[in-house]
Amino acid sequence: MTGKRGGYTGEILRVDLTRGAFSIDSTWDYLPDWIGGRGIAAVVAWREIHRGMGAFDPEAPLILMTGPLTGTMAPFSGRTTLCGLAPQGYPREWYTRSSFGGHFGPELKYSGYDGLIITGRSKIPVMLVIDNGKYRLEDASRLWGHGIIETQKTIRNSYGSRWRVFAIGPAGENLVRIAVAATETESASGQGGFGAVMGSKRLKAITVRGMKPVNIADPVRFETVCSWIGEEAHASHGWPHTPRLDPELVHRYGQRFQACTQGCPIRCYDARFYTRVPSKLCPGRILSGQIDCIAGLFPGVCGTFYDWNLGFEAGFEIAQLTNDEGINHWELLVGIIPWLRFLKQDGVTDRFDGCMIEPDNIRFWETLVLGISRRTGEMGNALAEGTLRAVDRLGFGKERAELLFPAWGYAGHWDGHGDRINRIFFPFWLVSALQWAMDTRDPISSGHGYVQNIMGWCREHSPVHGLDWDVIRSIGARVYGSPESVDPLGGYSGKAFPAYWHGHRSVAKDSLPVDDQVFPRIFSTRTSDHYARAGDIDGPMFEYEMFRAATGSEWTAAEYEFNLERILQLERMLLVRNFDRSRVDDETVISYFEQPETRINPYIGEPVGMNGDRFRKVMDEYYRLRGWNCRDGRPLPETRVKFGLENV
Ligand code: SF4
Repeated sequence: MTGKRGGYTGEILRVDLTRGAFSIDSTWDYLPDWIGGRGIAAVVAWREIHRGMGAFDPEAPLILMTGPLTGTMAPFSGRTTLCGLAPQGYPREWYTRSSFGGHFGPELKYSGYDGLIITGRSKIPVMLVIDNGKYRLEDASRLWGHGIIETQKTIRNSYGSRWRVFAIGPAGENLVRIAVAATETESASGQGGFGAVMGSKRLKAITVRGMKPVNIADPVRFETVCSWIGEEAHASHGWPHTPRLDPELVHRYGQRFQACTQGCPIRCYDARFYTRVPSKLCPGRILSGQIDCIAGLFPGVCGTFYDWNLGFEAGFEIAQLTNDEGINHWELLVGIIPWLRFLKQDGVTDRFDGCMIEPDNIRFWETLVLGISRRTGEMGNALAEGTLRAVDRLGFGKERAELLFPAWGYAGHWDGHGDRINRIFFPFWLVSALQWAMDTRDPISSGHGYVQNIMGWCREHSPVHGLDWDVIRSIGARVYGSPESVDPLGGYSGKAFPAYWHGHRSVAKDSLPVDDQVFPRIFSTRTSDHYARAGDIDGPMFEYEMFRAATGSEWTAAEYEFNLERILQLERMLLVRNFDRSRVDDETVISYFEQPETRINPYIGEPVGMNGDRFRKVMDEYYRLRGWNCRDGRPLPETRVKFGLENV
């Protein structure tokens, strides 16, 4: 670090809910090596999550971390990362992470804390209150049973609108393994089931307010870099497009753009707010709220695999009901509903706990969401355990579930199979398959960089502003070292390095943290060769330059990359020590990808399924890049020495 340090408050608040006790960790004890967010959480997890510990064990820590860019003017930096043992994990409660947007993380930084480490279980429902550095636990029994949105309204009505709240709903209280914790209307730690961990600790909500500034080591450079990147960010991300509002939805429901996270400088296709949507379930009631990301599927999408016809108003209402109850949207829309439709199609059952499986009918959705959240009925209680545990418990629907869930208890995402909303074809899902194989959750939520960029910028998916494959190949060669890595006819060649490199990008996005939908910047509509640049910085280095200017770090780009990988290496070692993780586990994804893909590469002309033996060779390449033993997929002794982890 240069003389001047920045980006951190220097303190992490520890809360023991069993004893109602507090203590402070110095953030500087984890720095510079562990960077922030997911990096610091990995060290805490290594030290405090022991073999055999369960997600609902009181001593299992729930680690909520900001990073050096949180609360600063860095574009897309308002995120927070949650880490711990995940109830949603299958067949093990794998250690993993989940990040969320909104304004909660910055407010926690302004209150003087870089993060929270929460252990224990309170005797009564409580709320953690952090007021500009001061902290206390308050009885929250009056809030227990209330929804996430309702709880926030109640707290902010009594505390004031400046306070930010991170809360759980009935699903979290009932230890539903697919429960979320969330802030505002749509910013949730969606995957992992961490809402149930808060419920198991009887922690109903965390409410925070702060007025403290976040110091910046090199404010002049930081401001310059952030404005360059903010400017470039207005060039399309993910794919060349110009987000537009729908005039009819503006007129009828008050649709408007609303960024989902503090620090977001752009209009995003992903984040729209509605001010006046009439309720179907309670005529006369007017609803408002945000629809982000996968929630756009709730109404149904004509002509797709998700072609139920719930309609906008009913879909919006169920999306808000799911937000309030606190249930994982991705599991529900990409996993549970398609699975139930398959069961009906196959004649296994046409009912969910007595209610006809009818995704066009809002009453079916209401019954489903409340059945899972409140653990009522046999199927409701079973699905509250997550789809794969429900299959084990109910004894049916296994084959169909295997079409939708690649691994670790999470429904498909950018994989060319179970996820049928994202357009991807062979060979590009080989990189997703590798990301899935090496992870403990859906890897894409902080690993969109390869799949979304390539599939978004190719002409097949962006006929007007898309790029020719020659351009994509030349940029692919620059970023991944081989044109085959991004060639539609490149097959299994050059696929290991993109997964290896995006693994580090994922760690950076969860440690700084910054928005996964935007970084790393690779392609641009603003440069002649379409390689992203801003000022004197190449696109893939944007996050690094913001980190250096904010913290005063003197790491070279190679040292930064090395320290990102060290975090990933420690996470792998935790999986080996606590879960005996090995290549055998990693290879469990293969059977899912061996099924024929659901979209066809126009240059191949027929659906392709993975060739397991050829993929295993790609896995060998990946293990070698990581310095892991190709036989068991575990870090080699020399790798541990290389990363200074030999004594860990
Ligand atoms: S770009 Fe979209 S997803 Fe990202 S922070 Fe902005 S609104 Fe949210």
